[in-house]
Amino acid sequence: MRPTGALHLGHYHGALKNWVRLQAEYDCFYFVADLHALTTHYEDRQVIERHVYDMVIDWLAAGLDPETCTIFLQSRLPEHSELFTLLAMGTPLGWLERVPTYKDQMEKLKDRDLATYGFLGYPLLQAADILIYKAAYVPVGEDQSSHVELTREVARRFNHLYGRSADFDAKIAAALVKLGKDDARYFEKQRREFQEAGTPAPLAKGEAIVARAEGPQSKAAGWTAEDSELLRAHLRGTGRAVLTEPQALHTEVRKLPGLDGEKMSKSYGNFIAMREEPAEVERKVNRMPTDPQRVRRTDPGDPQRCPVWQFHLVYSDVPTKEWVVKGCTTAGIGCLECKAPVIEAIKREQQPWRERAEAYLTNPKQVHWIVEVGTERARTVARETMRGVRDAMGLNY
Ligand code: SF4
Repeated sequence: MRPTGALHLGHYHGALKNWVRLQAEYDCFYFVADLHALTTHYEDRQVIERHVYDMVIDWLAAGLDPETCTIFLQSRLPEHSELFTLLAMGTPLGWLERVPTYKDQMEKLKDRDLATYGFLGYPLLQAADILIYKAAYVPVGEDQSSHVELTREVARRFNHLYGRSADFDAKIAAALVKLGKDDARYFEKQRREFQEAGTPAPLAKGEAIVARAEGPQSKAAGWTAEDSELLRAHLRGTGRAVLTEPQALHTEVRKLPGLDGEKMSKSYGNFIAMREEPAEVERKVNRMPTDPQRVRRTDPGDPQRCPVWQFHLVYSDVPTKEWVVKGCTTAGIGCLECKAPVIEAIKREQQPWRERAEAYLTNPKQVHWIVEVGTERARTVARETMRGVRDAMGLNY
């Protein structure tokens, strides 16, 4: 997530809530993408700096547990920039120019000079961020799918270009010897058939031979995980998977629009901050526009035309929603009355955030420490990947 400072309810419902849930299921890496912030705000140094820790406090307040997931700062790991540079060497320009968000953002941020190399390259930096942790999944919205797809293409190209080390063929030959004559001959036959016809049957048979060699009944003496990886690459005619192709992880999230029904955003001034004061929440919701056709209290309204209804969809249970629909369409309730349960639900949701945040606000060193520990944890994984990447590219002299 880019450091945008204190987060709002749109961030929470659109991403953070999902992150909190995912940390229990996966080994998650969450980072402050401060280098990404520079791709569009390269002139705002201080702003970015101030925003970093405010945002991390909101993550922690929302329930991210630094014992369970890894929280870190992108710019503290030069490995991200190194992988970005190395990937840039073989990435065709056209791949970056056709990323749909590139032109989109150019249009939206017309007031900034974005004709920069950094801005064009930011999806590649994103690819490096993902690939450096060999991520299996990336939790993204549909609008970010093209970035994950680009990451997959970049990984595939890298593996194709560099997955064959100088001793690749010798290692394959050695692994085949370990299989034994009969299995090796059978394996080679399946490989030829698969590469000629591309049908699944010989691929499955070849895979079965590898699985048997690595299984508990294996007769292949001294068989290693590397042997399996090499023979699988040999079977498919690819290089070794130095980088892992990630999958996009789409989850159903109910997005919360802004107070005016548009996208919630700080720059539109239509937001409620995650740690907004309760009195301010009340004031903001009470001032929300409603169905424009419901001019007087006695006019029946239609929730579909009303931004408050979008809040009910996120915050209210079925009986409350039924009460709104009936009351609104029959002019049985007034708009302030209708907003009251939303205000209460937001305040209830915010209460534990405020309490957790308080502990970090009074002890900012603890937040710095959490980021420090997470950064070191991430560094261990990033360094390991970079060793493999440098090796594969022949940069190990
Ligand atoms: S009663 Fe509720 S849903 Fe209907 S217009 Fe008023 S605020 Fe909107």
